[in-house]
Amino acid sequence: MAKLFEDTSDAPPQQIDPSARVVGVAVNANVWRTFDYLWPAALGDPLVGQRVKVSFGRGDRKTGGVVVDVDRTPGSHALKPVAEVIDASPQLDASLMALGQWISDYYMTPLGGTLAAMVPSAVGRHAAAAETVAYLACERHDWPARLGGRQKRVLDELLEARKQNVEPLTLELLMHHSGASRDTIKRLAGRNMIRLDTRPVTLPELSETAGKDPFPLNDDQIGVLAALEDKLAGGFSCTLLHGVTGSGKTEIYVRAIRQVAAADKQAILLVPEIALATQTLQRLLARLPRVAVLHSGLTDVQRAFYYDQIRDGHASVVVGPRSAIFAPARKLGLIIVDEEHESTYKQDTAPRYHARDVAVKRASLADVPIVLGSATPSLESLQNVHLGRYELQELPRRVRGLPMPLLKIVHLRKELQVGRIELIGRTLTRQMAATLDRGEQIILLMNRRGFASFVFCPKCKWELTCDHCERTMVFHQATQLVMCHYCQRTAALPEFCPACRGKLLLFGMGIQRVEGELARKFPDARVARMDSDTMTSPKQFQKVFDAFSAGELDILLGTQMVAKGLDFPHVSLVGVISADTSLLIPDFRASERTFQLIVQVAGRAGRAEHVGEVVVQTLHADEPAVALAAGHDYEQFAAGELASRREAKLPPFARMVRFIIRDRQSTKVEQSAIQLAERLRSLLAGAEVRVFGPQPAGVIKIRDQFRWQVLLIAETAGTIQKILRPQMETLCRACGSDVIADVDPVNLI
Ligand code: ADP
Ligand code: ZN
Ligand code: ZN
Repeated sequence: MAKLFEDTSDAPPQQIDPSARVVGVAVNANVWRTFDYLWPAALGDPLVGQRVKVSFGRGDRKTGGVVVDVDRTPGSHALKPVAEVIDASPQLDASLMALGQWISDYYMTPLGGTLAAMVPSAVGRHAAAAETVAYLACERHDWPARLGGRQKRVLDELLEARKQNVEPLTLELLMHHSGASRDTIKRLAGRNMIRLDTRPVTLPELSETAGKDPFPLNDDQIGVLAALEDKLAGGFSCTLLHGVTGSGKTEIYVRAIRQVAAADKQAILLVPEIALATQTLQRLLARLPRVAVLHSGLTDVQRAFYYDQIRDGHASVVVGPRSAIFAPARKLGLIIVDEEHESTYKQDTAPRYHARDVAVKRASLADVPIVLGSATPSLESLQNVHLGRYELQELPRRVRGLPMPLLKIVHLRKELQVGRIELIGRTLTRQMAATLDRGEQIILLMNRRGFASFVFCPKCKWELTCDHCERTMVFHQATQLVMCHYCQRTAALPEFCPACRGKLLLFGMGIQRVEGELARKFPDARVARMDSDTMTSPKQFQKVFDAFSAGELDILLGTQMVAKGLDFPHVSLVGVISADTSLLIPDFRASERTFQLIVQVAGRAGRAEHVGEVVVQTLHADEPAVALAAGHDYEQFAAGELASRREAKLPPFARMVRFIIRDRQSTKVEQSAIQLAERLRSLLAGAEVRVFGPQPAGVIKIRDQFRWQVLLIAETAGTIQKILRPQMETLCRACGSDVIADVDPVNLI
């Protein structure tokens, strides 16, 4: 790191060095163009992709940026020099720079912020050879009765670590897991309740060897691998691997990656975040050589270490969520996206990229093959097969001749006794009892958090909503508090209706109500709940996961978390408490999501010797998403859904851009939205683009910000961007409120 100049932001910049060159820098700030800076000769030759710090705007603060151009012609006005060079050699090579530029253009997002998001800030800063670690320094019975929630969590984490023989914990992980700040932890050390120490950093190991193949491939798998063989030799190609749940897709990934690694090339495997805490990962680690796993529990030092290993070409395989698609693999030979239909691949803060689509772009820029795998491919990917852009490969059967689980749709209205608030109907209750009698395990899906979704007054119709978000608040049994799921604020449950002093009613359903019902109906069953209220750290997830694997639990009750890629051999019954929670969301993908969710969660049943049974409760048994999921009929569901999307000219037959206008003032946001919509209409006049709105967004207020939207729909990709991308700076600046452009939005509320 070289710090060559004092800050010169207020003083006029001095021309110290006549031999200095002029470079273009994409600054990580909310600006749409790049800026020129002086590059003094003393810094050596500038290189595209090098990260730097520059003074930007007012004040002394230095802002990060990336060199995008090394031969700018000096303009007429005096330039500021680059303040600091972070990387001696570029972190972003030419192909990643090109990818960043594409993301900035396609997703209409500033280049500086995009490039910054592509390199973790810890990379290149790992000079630290020591790290702080924490030990528990007091016995459980000595803990004071009055402890802050965060403090208690710190102590709990350390106690747990001691029990599991993994004490001490690094300060960073302890902060991450407990949610406590550095100061909170230091205060506990000051009270001698914990002890802090420093030790040399431990780096993860990249295991050189890969385990043997545990079983021979079946014919379907052999067929798919043979088809991939040619493609792995090189050149861009995109294969959609549609394999039913339990068909052995992971095995295909493993073999393909090994082949690439054997040719001294690197592979990137993207997985949904949650899969990194499950046995998927263990299986991959055991079978693949030199795997770098970029999970969220890594310390900065570990992450930086992995990036170096990837950049040096030592790591053969990168496994990680979304952002792993930016891993600096220079010898890239293959990209795989598992569960490609997952909406979590879309980033919901800037840059709002879709990791699957970025992966396809990266593969094409790097001229390497890519495989997208799913049991329920997205309609976007399926349509790309129809257009001849992707090649389809199928694994239509489960491994080892296992049958597909048997789905039974039950109509809730016929199932529940009148006058009783019950969520588990007769059929499901009966099947659960039988399953428990046989000593087998059950997974229950209830895709709504909390206990009751409404608190309202039956007399005057008053309803409890969040003061900051205009959404109903959800009652949580465990805390006896109401909570807003948009801003996470909590409040006490009012005793009376504030409007008429009448008695309040708790209404609707949530996972905690199911939990209560389980305790009543199956008092002896060992139940764990898995939702974002109970799973606040990857470690908690791991704990429940391990207990269920070990047969220490009978019932796993969870939100969509339990639908994703879990492989438990002793689960023979899956119950979907309500298929309607996702069906009724006002989003054109509601049907597709419901279908995916049912098929995915059903796929958790019967993965070993037990026959799998699935009970789906619904009030909408005739909906194709529900009825066709019951028959595992992806083809028919997809055909019907594609036909209606074509009719309505919706994705994948069109491309959407959603503008969100945000402001704390409700009148201003409306004004801004009207003006923005007018500008958009005039800019897009004559283009094949439909403009809808302005209108209030589905959720009109989140965290005190009012939200309006304008929706643009074009028939072809890139039409909107071509016209609007060059106008974004003006559009944003002219708008009196905050503007977000979300290209290919997956969330429309
Ligand atoms: P998917 O990802 O398609 O749901 P997995 O790859 O998780 O399926 O495979 C399901 C299970 O079957 C895993 O436990 C895996 O080890 C096993 N398996 C995969 N291929 C075979 C095979 N050819 N023979 C026997 N078992 C297999
Ligand atoms: Zn009232
Ligand atoms: Zn709120």
